[in-house]
Amino acid sequence: MIPYGHQYIDEKDIEAVCSVLRGDWLTQGPTVESFEKALAAKVGCRYAVTFSNGTSALHGAMFAAGVEKGDEVITSPMTFAATSNSALYQGGVPVFADIDERTGCLDPEKAMEKLSHRTKVIAPISYSGYPVKLSPFMEMARSVGALVVEDGCHALGASRDGFMVGQEADMTVFSFHPVKHITTGEGGAVVTNDEELARKLRLFRSHGITKDPDEMENADGPWSNEMIDLGYNYRLTDLQCALGLSQLEKLDDFVSYRRAVAGRYDEVLAELPGAVIPAGHPGHGYHLYAFRVPADIRKKLFLDLRDEGIWVQVHYPPVHLHPYYRKSFGYKIGDFPVAERFYSMEISLPVYVGLSESDQGLVMRKIEDMLKNP
Ligand SMILES: *Cc1c(COP(=O)(O)O)cnc(C)c1O
Repeated sequence: MIPYGHQYIDEKDIEAVCSVLRGDWLTQGPTVESFEKALAAKVGCRYAVTFSNGTSALHGAMFAAGVEKGDEVITSPMTFAATSNSALYQGGVPVFADIDERTGCLDPEKAMEKLSHRTKVIAPISYSGYPVKLSPFMEMARSVGALVVEDGCHALGASRDGFMVGQEADMTVFSFHPVKHITTGEGGAVVTNDEELARKLRLFRSHGITKDPDEMENADGPWSNEMIDLGYNYRLTDLQCALGLSQLEKLDDFVSYRRAVAGRYDEVLAELPGAVIPAGHPGHGYHLYAFRVPADIRKKLFLDLRDEGIWVQVHYPPVHLHPYYRKSFGYKIGDFPVAERFYSMEISLPVYVGLSESDQGLVMRKIEDMLKNP
């Protein structure tokens, strides 16, 4: 079987986790801070705060941005449900805007139409690893006093205009799920240059409890701690952070590998009838290779490939069409036609570190057969 995504674990990763198991700290120990420092250094920003997964990291970012009941969060329907769900967890209202058909990312003009004095966050997604241009969203957000939270779960290691993804937005969220660029099993992080946002993120991932005497109202001894906000237990363990540290050392190689896979697909698939290869970008991270074919043959291609053991996927059924979103907000088919059309054509081809050239060749031959003889 050839999956669409897969982790890459080597003996160094295994040894890194084992050494934590032999030590004193399984959680809340020094490896958490080591991983956070290394991650912040890697993306070139001041702070990284780890979370138990990418979804809890998004939730933390919405909290730190101050999203409260009724506040609006503008985002894309072409994403995993976790992006807009994180606004809901805080009582916020997700406001979708349509996408740019070329890149699959939030369209700034469409987002602009949704901007209001109730907008608290604009949350573009660097869909598939294509680094969405942030400056229009930053400008829009500044004009109404909102923040930009980039969902960078597809884009660790990607870059644009000389900046790594993670450096430009007020906060950028990463996931370390096994299909993402680096893995900690489950895991996530928020990176930021803002000290106050970093403080809020740390507070939120550990029950809202502080041990800092300066933040306490009634400290009466060295044992004191105070819950000063409602937080959660969203911590990442030292075991996971050891794996993350070890994986992070390989990030540059991982991204190069993915770009090489994408380059080979581009060359062969661009020539095929009806095929649309993903928009290129020199800083693309290629979490996904989001290939498109005419909507009327997408399902057949999907089933034919799965019959051959090629476990393709579709990213994503637009979030506004999930029954929960339809029922809660009255969304319906036709609300975001560009995202809906993109979805009807999309098929994510295998791209991961360790995908062999011969396995990739097999994938491309099957697609070629099918598209030439539909
Ligand atoms: C993976 C992903 C998430 C959620 O990350 P988890 O670690 O699985 O919770 C959020 N947004 C996007 C776009 C993702 O791809």
